[in-house]
Amino acid sequence: MSKRQILVTHALPYVNAGLHLGHLVESLQTDFWVRFQKLRGHECRLFSGDDTHGTATMLRAQQEGRAPEALLDEMRAAHLADLEAFGIEYDHYGSTHSETNRALVYEIWAALRAADVVEEREVTQLFDPETGIFLADRFVRGRCPRCDSPDQYGDNCDACGATYEPSELIDPRSSLSGAVPEERSHPHLFVKLERFHDFLDEWTQTPGRLPTETANWLRATFLSEPLRDWDVSRPAPYFGFEIPDAPGNYFYVWLDAPVGYVASTQEWCEAGNGALDDWWRNPDCEIHHFIGKDIAYFHTLFWPAMLKTAGFQLPSTVHVHGFLTVNGEKMSKRKGTFVLGRTYLDHLSPEYLRYYYASKLSSRVDDLDLNLDEFVQKVNADLVGKVVNLASRTARFVKDRTLPDAYPADRDGGLFEKAAEAGEEIARAYEIRDNARAMRLIMALADRANEFVETKAPWVLKKDPEKAEELLEICAIALNLFRQICIYLAPVLPRFESESARLLGLEGSARWKDAATPVVGTRVEKFRHLMERVDPEKVAAMTEASREAVAASEASVSPEASGSGTASEALAGEPLEAECTIDDFGRIDLRVAEIVAARAVPKASRLLELELSLGGSERRTVFAGIKKAYDPEKLVGRLTVLVANLAPRQMKFGTSQGMVLAAGTGDEDLFILSPDSGARPGQRIR
Ligand SMILES: [Zn+2]
Repeated sequence: MSKRQILVTHALPYVNAGLHLGHLVESLQTDFWVRFQKLRGHECRLFSGDDTHGTATMLRAQQEGRAPEALLDEMRAAHLADLEAFGIEYDHYGSTHSETNRALVYEIWAALRAADVVEEREVTQLFDPETGIFLADRFVRGRCPRCDSPDQYGDNCDACGATYEPSELIDPRSSLSGAVPEERSHPHLFVKLERFHDFLDEWTQTPGRLPTETANWLRATFLSEPLRDWDVSRPAPYFGFEIPDAPGNYFYVWLDAPVGYVASTQEWCEAGNGALDDWWRNPDCEIHHFIGKDIAYFHTLFWPAMLKTAGFQLPSTVHVHGFLTVNGEKMSKRKGTFVLGRTYLDHLSPEYLRYYYASKLSSRVDDLDLNLDEFVQKVNADLVGKVVNLASRTARFVKDRTLPDAYPADRDGGLFEKAAEAGEEIARAYEIRDNARAMRLIMALADRANEFVETKAPWVLKKDPEKAEELLEICAIALNLFRQICIYLAPVLPRFESESARLLGLEGSARWKDAATPVVGTRVEKFRHLMERVDPEKVAAMTEASREAVAASEASVSPEASGSGTASEALAGEPLEAECTIDDFGRIDLRVAEIVAARAVPKASRLLELELSLGGSERRTVFAGIKKAYDPEKLVGRLTVLVANLAPRQMKFGTSQGMVLAAGTGDEDLFILSPDSGARPGQRIR
């Protein structure tokens, strides 16, 4: 086996938020793979860092009244602390807001200019005259041009699913200032991606480059027609790198973000680890990116085009994974299943999550479901019940004794030899990132080892002083099988391996091939308990704490909090309407209504069809965009508030006769109103 040189990255976490369990699906599988390669004796290095630029960072720093750099430092430290607490080992963790990255971005930009693939064109966009900022689609809200629903984003309508241009919104407002946006045009710089079409056809469709699903998707979508030019500039104000030959304009965050992989490598090289070109301009170096499916097109179209133009080595493989669901659903703040890494660590051991994710991760682009009951059951049954148990019920009988000088192969029924042979199959599974298969193979070895212990019953041998030698041999076999299993688990659970080494009096770090050679002639140390069972109450406490964290962040925008001079987040996001009179208000007829039936509208991702009773036989059908926030069956029987005299609206799925009132920003963050108990259907609200 020749020694490979492997550079690995996972996507750079964005600086604007803490890491949640979804982020960890990616960073953990990356860490498993890197640790596996190192165990196999390869030179493998892991680089990542924070992704920092963009309007979101600029606005948040402004809102918090501090320099963006202060925000960056704080978030990078928080991200790194979480990632390291989950056991992820980086060779370097950088930031895209560094002089190293700036120089590399400029170098790549100069190459794109020299290749004559950059073009300048006017772009007309909505502009906020109060803040002086061109508005991205999500910063414009107004009424849907198709169904007239209020408060919709600039690119699509939550209520009817229409997509449109921000300029088509009725009565648009900037969500930054509440100002009426104006249309303005500004020159933007574009990379003419179509020039790379033949190259990208070949590169993306090369077997082994991308998961088959991703390669097919690219071929059926982007690559089936001329590639659109990529808009890589943003006018000031913007937090990022100013474009050297276009002052007043900044590189779009997605241009400089992946360059952060190279910058992180370079910073590591400059710390005394060799030359960047040995990694990024070396055809013998493999480059592997781990990313989520949502950012696949940045990494498989724009990024290879940039690298190729600037003469860098292209990625060997881009590993693409799906999203995390919890208990079969999208993570939900309301249900407490939107769990930050930090909240998890407050309650549970990172090793539980490492093993559980490994047991679920295949090499396909599938979503991964964290089922919290299964999480408890699987960790307890496999790690505690099979692996830890194997050592805990044998090591104590031979504490302080010396293992035989020859491994008693005649007594083990070929178990050690078979497990040594299984090592190559397990390695193949790790190599192709089929961690789930690797875990199944390892647990099958653990099952056979436990059967052996069960049959030989060392606790019985212990009672007979004449069988002391047999006891030693049986325990030596069990502990050697345990040691093998710990080496195979080491990419996922490195501490299990180091503890097994300590227990058997070994020194130095393990290599994969050590699993093929039994440990003999060393002294057995005292067994230290390796892992406690997962306590389901701690899992419940974690979800409760996650719910409370959401409630606390909502309470912080209460009127008291905003009275201190800082703007309420809710009010800033949606300024108060112009004053109205009591007569204006009187024209809106609000009624208490009982939800008597509710069902999901198929093919509409956000709509529920509600049947509302206003008392007696008076019924209304209303389509409400609350599907992501409410299970329909749980709504039946409750009272809510209906805008009863709203003109009926013809929608794709039927006519909506009125509107149900709700607060919140959309999707899961929606809260329908209820009157206090005692109100009756049909009563007017004034
Ligand atoms: Zn609409």
